[in-house]
Amino acid sequence: QNVATEFDTIAAISTPSGEGGISIIRISGENAIEVASQLYKGKNLDKVASHTINYGHIIDPDTEQEVDEVMVSVMRAPNTYTREDVVEINCHGGIVATNRILQLILGGSARLAKPGEFTERAFLNGRIDLSQAEAVMDLIRAKTDQSMKVALDQLDGNLSTLIANLRQDILDVLAQVEVNIDYPEYDDVETVTSRLLREKAVEVKGQVQMLLATAKQGKVLRDGLATAIVGHPNVGKSSILNHLLHEDKAIVTDVAGTTRDVIEEYVNVQGVPLKLVDTAGIHDTDDKVEKIGVERSKKAISTADLVVLVLDSSVPLREEDRQLLKLTEGSKRIVVLNKTDLPTKIDLNELHNVVKNDELINSSAIEPLGTKALEERIAKMFFAGNIENNSNNIMVTNARHIGLLKQASDALDSVLEGLDNDIPVDLVQIDMTRAWELLGEITGDSYQDELLDQLFSQFCLGK
Ligand code: GDP
Ligand code: ZN
Repeated sequence: QNVATEFDTIAAISTPSGEGGISIIRISGENAIEVASQLYKGKNLDKVASHTINYGHIIDPDTEQEVDEVMVSVMRAPNTYTREDVVEINCHGGIVATNRILQLILGGSARLAKPGEFTERAFLNGRIDLSQAEAVMDLIRAKTDQSMKVALDQLDGNLSTLIANLRQDILDVLAQVEVNIDYPEYDDVETVTSRLLREKAVEVKGQVQMLLATAKQGKVLRDGLATAIVGHPNVGKSSILNHLLHEDKAIVTDVAGTTRDVIEEYVNVQGVPLKLVDTAGIHDTDDKVEKIGVERSKKAISTADLVVLVLDSSVPLREEDRQLLKLTEGSKRIVVLNKTDLPTKIDLNELHNVVKNDELINSSAIEPLGTKALEERIAKMFFAGNIENNSNNIMVTNARHIGLLKQASDALDSVLEGLDNDIPVDLVQIDMTRAWELLGEITGDSYQDELLDQLFSQFCLGK
């Protein structure tokens, strides 16, 4: 439907920075092939077939010196990522050569692409809709296979299709209402029209609510399950964290209270992305540094989706342990009884009085598989929500989408409220139309330029 708009030619390195086997520079726009040709020695790129990859060399046009040995893909519009002419230069000579080639390209009639600009063009040229563009971004950031799958489904357009259908439904009923108002063939036209509107508002709202219900898990997949590991100093928090990280990132020492920096790490626990926060633990102390940790611990407990409270089973319960047990009572928590390799000194009876059986896990963080039970429990708790059984595989993960769905739901509530209060149908129509517009903002059928800027600037360069 959309015809490619005229844009200038842009270029950027599309592979992650750093050393790698090859790097790819992507050029997109009207002059893409011309820009590449000026630096390329090999076949005539103007003449090669579209979607071919061509061996050759990049030559500095000023010095005629060879810069790198390359493979150049030529893809002509419109069957390209951006729907414009696209050239991708695969270079082999490492990041220095890659940068040099980019500089040569920018010396020609191309400019450096802004972050996400290739994807923005794909959107502006009508190849993908906004929710799909956002899925591209989610894919780039995906932390686990599960998040990848959700983003891929969204990229597939599952969400877009559902939204488009809902909008069409609303449009149909609005058209019907229009007809009824203009040609009142029945005596009870108001009643019939109200019923139509009500039925549709209830139906669409149900779908919107269904989507919103997926948002909680979707958010976790996207942002990670905020997990606080708390406990008295020296109970083994850092050791457990290291197990979860599968590498030694947190510092483990014998001195109580050494984990002073709040470390934030993502970790994939059997498909569940955890955003871990290691705190200094709640610990009564005059030490300033430690105190910051204490306050953060309390704060962490109140904001965490999941609290892992670690206790040392080789010593009796301390007053602080009791305090922590009390503080975490209302949280979704796992109480880890650590150091089970040592003789048990903790009062298990007292513990069982305040901790539910299924909250309690044994652990020995000095053994290679000593925290496996904890990992399994975390995964089980999360997947009990059964994200894989989500009927149509649509999951809303994006904050912008969630916000718009909520607003659409509110607009539909206003429709129902209006009907309940016998407000004239043409006023109720306004709220129905508003719901239609809000849903359209998800897929970018209606959008504002600031939104685009804000959205695409979050992409990394070269995407
Ligand atoms: P944190 O202060 O709570 O982070 O505790 P650390 O992880 O720094 O551990 C404190 C000390 O306890 C270190 O010497 C660890 O090696 C030791 N430790 C941690 N977990 C266990 C365990 O399960 N069994 C035994 N025997 N020692 C442990
Ligand atoms: Zn520690």
